[in-house]
Amino acid sequence: MQRTTRRSDLPLPAARRSPDSTAAVLRAVLDHGPIARSSIARATRLSAATVSGIAASLQARGLVREVPEAVVRPGIGRPHVPLDVDSAAVGVIGVHIAVPRATVALLNLRGRVLVRHQDPHGRRDPQSVLAAVADRVAAIHRDYGRRRRILGLGLATGGWVDGLNGTVVEHPVLGWRDVPVAATLSAATRLPVRVDSNSRALLRAEQLLGRVAGDARRSAVQIFVGNVVDVAFATGGVIHQGPRSAAGAVAHLPVEGCAEPCSCGRIGCLQAAVGERALVRRALAAGLIERPDIHAVVDAALAGSAGAVALLEERARRVGRAAALLLDLFDPDVLLVSEAGANRVPGCLAALRAEVAAWSSAGADMTTTVHPSSFPENVLAVAGGAVALDQVYADPPI
Ligand SMILES: [Zn+2]
Repeated sequence: MQRTTRRSDLPLPAARRSPDSTAAVLRAVLDHGPIARSSIARATRLSAATVSGIAASLQARGLVREVPEAVVRPGIGRPHVPLDVDSAAVGVIGVHIAVPRATVALLNLRGRVLVRHQDPHGRRDPQSVLAAVADRVAAIHRDYGRRRRILGLGLATGGWVDGLNGTVVEHPVLGWRDVPVAATLSAATRLPVRVDSNSRALLRAEQLLGRVAGDARRSAVQIFVGNVVDVAFATGGVIHQGPRSAAGAVAHLPVEGCAEPCSCGRIGCLQAAVGERALVRRALAAGLIERPDIHAVVDAALAGSAGAVALLEERARRVGRAAALLLDLFDPDVLLVSEAGANRVPGCLAALRAEVAAWSSAGADMTTTVHPSSFPENVLAVAGGAVALDQVYADPPI
C-alpha cells in the first residue's frame, strides 16, 4: 500500500529571506532609475511601506541615492525624490585571466569601468598569476578604497570553470587544472570572490546592463571568441550551468577545411580555427601588424588595411557558421557574439550576420537577433565585473 508522504520525509525548506525583496527593489532602480519609490512599488508589486524601508537600507549602505528631479512638478503634497543606483559610493573589482595577460578593473554599479590595468603574465602558473592579481587589487584598494567601498571581486576566464565551487577545473591553453581561484583570491584580498566562465559572465553582463537586456533575459546564446572559445545559454533569465558546470564547451566543434592544430591534439577544432593566436600569427606573417596582439589587427582594419579586414572577415564568417548551428539548436531571442572584429569593425559584423543567415534555418531576423557585445571597449573587464555585480544584484549587501 502506498504510504502518505509525511512532513518528516521532506527536506527542510531553506529559511525564507527578505533579500528577494531587497534585490527586486535594487534591480528596479538599476532598470528604471531615476525612479520614484511609488513607481518601484508598482514595478516590484511590493507595498509602499516595504519599498520605503528597503530603499532606506540601500541608501544607508551607499547602493542607491536620491537624485534631484530635473523638473519640479506643480501641485501640493510631498515632492517625489527619485532614486538611482549610486555610482560614486561603492564599486566592484572585475578580473579577467587571458592567456597572455590579466585584466584588473574597478567598476561602478552600472558596470562602468573606472580604472583598468592590463598586466602581461610573468609566469603562467596559477600561484604567480593570482599573486600578481592580488597585488593589483591591493593597489586599487589603496588608491580608491577610501572613497569607494568595494563590495566584491568577480573573475572570468576561459575553459571549464566551476562557479559553484569557485574553481577553474581546466584551462587547457594556460595549462591550469583544479585551481581554487575563489579561495586563493579571497584569502589574499579579504573580499568575497566569485568566478565564472567568459561567456556565462558576459551573458550575465548583457542581462543586467546590455543594450538588449530585455531580450537577453528571456532567452539568449552568448558566444565568446578570444584565445579560447566558449558559449553560454539562458532561458527564463537563468544561465544554464549543467551539473558539472561544463555547459557551453564548443571549443572542439569540428570546422571544415581548417588545418590548424588544436591544444587537444586534433586538427581543425573551432577554437584552433577562430582563436586569436592563429589569427595574430597570420597577421604577423603577412606583415600587417608589428606586435602580436588582436587589437593591433583590429586597429589596422579600422585604419583601412585590406589585408587585416580580409583576415577578420574570414574569421567572422567561421564564427558565423558555428553561430548558425547554435541559433538553430536553441532558437533564442538574441544571439550575442563577443569577437574583436564583430565588436568593432562594421564589415565583420555584416559578414558574420550574412553567414548566420546563410546557414541557419530558423528564419530569424539577423539585425534584431544577432548582436555584437554591448561592451566592445571593455569586454574583459566587464566580464569579470559582471560576476561580482551578479552577486550584488542577487543578494544586495545591506
Ligand atoms: Zn580541439
